Amino acid sequence: MVPALSFDFLKRLPKTDLHCHLDGSIRLDTILDLARKQKVALPTFDRTELFHLVYAGESCTSLDDYLKAFDITLSVMQTEEALERAAYELAQDAWAENVRYLEVRYSPLLHTREGLRPSQVVEAVVRGLRNAKREFGIRYGVILCAIRSLGPESSLRIAELCVAFKNRGVVGFDLAGSEVNNPAKLHRAAFQLVIDNNINCTAHAGESFGPDSVHQAIHKCGAHRIGHGTRLVESGDLLNYVNDHRIPLEVCPSSNLQTKAASSWETHPVDFFVDYGLRVTINTDNRLMTDTTVTKELHLCHTHYGWSLQTIKEIIIAGFKSAFMPYREKADLLAEISAELAKVVAPTALPKG
Ligand SMILES: [Zn+2]
Repeated sequence: MVPALSFDFLKRLPKTDLHCHLDGSIRLDTILDLARKQKVALPTFDRTELFHLVYAGESCTSLDDYLKAFDITLSVMQTEEALERAAYELAQDAWAENVRYLEVRYSPLLHTREGLRPSQVVEAVVRGLRNAKREFGIRYGVILCAIRSLGPESSLRIAELCVAFKNRGVVGFDLAGSEVNNPAKLHRAAFQLVIDNNINCTAHAGESFGPDSVHQAIHKCGAHRIGHGTRLVESGDLLNYVNDHRIPLEVCPSSNLQTKAASSWETHPVDFFVDYGLRVTINTDNRLMTDTTVTKELHLCHTHYGWSLQTIKEIIIAGFKSAFMPYREKADLLAEISAELAKVVAPTALPKG
């Protein structure tokens, strides 16, 4: 029998995290520290109680419910210092589990309550990531998120920021937030501006709404990648289109279970997606609310689906291939990672006796 791959074994493999929200991945201790320094009133200053307030866990019933915990994190992320620190520490946490390339996403408009200008927000986050890169070498890209419920005008503001900060740390545009009653096509002008400027874009779709949401993201908005795409399994035709065009799926399994995009590991379509040959990448979504890491997600998939080392290597490579990174730089990084992975062999079972 092939021995199971341990958590530590998976932790040592090089990885990507392409779908990771800054305001959902701040450290719990940093929230407490920032709240004390900024004199922000949190619902509680007890670490355990605070964890239970932000952790989605079993009690979460929907995506809308899941999004409530962001009120707490956003309350302490309204200064340049806080944003720079949160970005730096996120890169540090990712690096600690051997994430070599990290794409951090957030919406600048949610960090302007205390008077910061959106451009200051973008600069602070890029500064934190740049410092992390200089200190320990992690590669990164920033994705700016438009939020469906804030309306098309605000999405356009985010698209303009993407245009201004292209090649200055920002690598892509995203549409996030609740899909119900907020179709992607309403935000088409923002996507058009981004695409006209040759900027990468992705969209959360097929998470809390059916395959039509994915169809709109791809065909009406021109998304180059899909965030989650869980409900793609309901449309064979679109599934094949996504497969034929190698459109990457940014799958975040534990988050999908908490938002009820999938009801259980057994019914989550990611194993089928991998089996069918789709370009699947495995990501965290929100390291704090979901209490996870890429290593943890891979380990859970390995445990539930029996994914072999070869399958996990292919998923890791898919992550690097799907990065919003210039082609030549990506090709160099892919060659480096492939060579590294080629040397990794699965642990062998000890002989009996
Ligand atoms: Zn997300």
